[in-house]
Amino acid sequence: MAHLRGARVKKFAALAAAALVAAPPASADIQFVGMVGLTPNAQALKQYVATTYAPPSIGGVRPDRLPDHPTGHALDFMVYGNTKLGNAIFGDLNSNKAAHSIKYCLWQVANHYDHVHCTVF
Ligand SMILES: [Zn+2]
Repeated sequence: MAHLRGARVKKFAALAAAALVAAPPASADIQFVGMVGLTPNAQALKQYVATTYAPPSIGGVRPDRLPDHPTGHALDFMVYGNTKLGNAIFGDLNSNKAAHSIKYCLWQVANHYDHVHCTVF
């Protein structure tokens, strides 16, 4: 019973966090780039963030000097100037890494001020 209540509180907290970002655009308005070749974990994470936060753009597979993006293991959730949205996405994903098979996420560090980067297993 207690664990059920905990799960409900957690779910409510996530919904409240999403609501704080206020009226995200419909997922249909998201620009998806490089979705072909995503691993199953990356695909699931993309789906979760798209339906929960609807960031303006999500990038996946692309050439890079590091292997994460070229191999379909990394996603960039573009928020541009919407730091609140970035905070919400990063806060949620970074505290629920295991649930989303996330290796690590980057936000508000060099080159990651306009998007949240996540690499999955
Ligand atoms: Zn990235």
